[in-house]
Amino acid sequence: MTEHSRRRFIIQSAALAAAASNISFAQTQKKLGVALVGLGSLSEKQIAPALLKTRNCRLAGIVTGTPSKAAEWQKKYNLPANAIYNYDNMHTMSKNKDIDIVYVVTPNALHLRDAKVAAEAGKHVFCEKPLEINTERAQQIVDICKKAGVQLGVGYRLQFEPNNLECVRLAREKVLGDVRIIDANFGFAIGDPTQWRLKHDLAGGGALMDVGIYCLQTARMITGEDPIWISAAEVKTDSVKFKEVDETITWIMKFPSGVTANCTSTYGANGFQGFRVGTTRGWFGLDPAYYYNGNRGRRSDGPVATELDDFAECVINKRQTKVSGEMGVADVKFLMAVYESIKKGRPVTFG
Ligand code: NAD
Repeated sequence: MTEHSRRRFIIQSAALAAAASNISFAQTQKKLGVALVGLGSLSEKQIAPALLKTRNCRLAGIVTGTPSKAAEWQKKYNLPANAIYNYDNMHTMSKNKDIDIVYVVTPNALHLRDAKVAAEAGKHVFCEKPLEINTERAQQIVDICKKAGVQLGVGYRLQFEPNNLECVRLAREKVLGDVRIIDANFGFAIGDPTQWRLKHDLAGGGALMDVGIYCLQTARMITGEDPIWISAAEVKTDSVKFKEVDETITWIMKFPSGVTANCTSTYGANGFQGFRVGTTRGWFGLDPAYYYNGNRGRRSDGPVATELDDFAECVINKRQTKVSGEMGVADVKFLMAVYESIKKGRPVTFG
């Protein structure tokens, strides 16, 4: 395949995104109130702005241990005084009918603590990734929410990102043949050596827990399977900075269908934020794949091959092509109207 024949796909259609998210939207229903727990970077830069765009929910409360942030957010988002909580009185939100969902956005090892308080206050829980720092604690969140009769969701945003979903479709529909190999990498050169992401007690691990989880999600989304074995190796270039957590880990996963996934997570280098999927008749991938916006994809076939395959299928299955002769006639008609409008110096109307 030449570079020319490779096509880029960037799908930003709001309609597609909405369809992909499986939201059943009732115009008449009241928006659900969401309380954010932990007003750090993700809450401030992504979640709060996103809540201003949501159709089904709205910011209805905050939980923070920092009084200055409470005042700032209260003003910025016009929150009533009874919507402001700290970690000690958060359980009293059981009395706040305005809050339906609690979104846990604290460091990984605090997810259990915060999800428990929320669930026991009768609130549905949406929790950031990773769900917790080990399997037992993650399972405890599931059990607590079940026992409380509340729903639990995890902030796997790529499951709602159109470019990633398009790759899942390419894999599932075998558009370029069977998936054989996945290569997924995510990492960045981490700064501040004092941050919680480098503390085992709060993060549970390093780059693997923080960003490697995206590569794992890619492999599980693309295959639709769970791995049957995993083999891993770790490298540290800075044993002081990364004393408590992993810096770089490379791991291989094998899936029941025979797919192998090679993944790398790192806190030691920039430039890795994408994946490529090798198939029996080509390849496809995204780079970047894991950003909030601007993810971009390429695939080995092009629109010419795709349109010819589609037309052949139309002939075989006696199906009408979507690029019909009627479409061709209409386009010529409208182009002629452009000339006519210029010639006559006035708009040309139809119908
Ligand atoms: P952050 O450090 O910017 O914010 C963490 C917040 O938790 C801060 O407001 C901090 O004050 C608060 N906090 C409460 N108790 C704390 C304690 N004992 N120690 C430290 N902080 C404490 O972190 P972040 O980047 O917003 O990440 C928060 C969570 O969101 C993490 O679980 C992370 O994995 C997840 N995250 C997800 C994405 C995504 O794209 N889905 C992106 C970034 C972070």
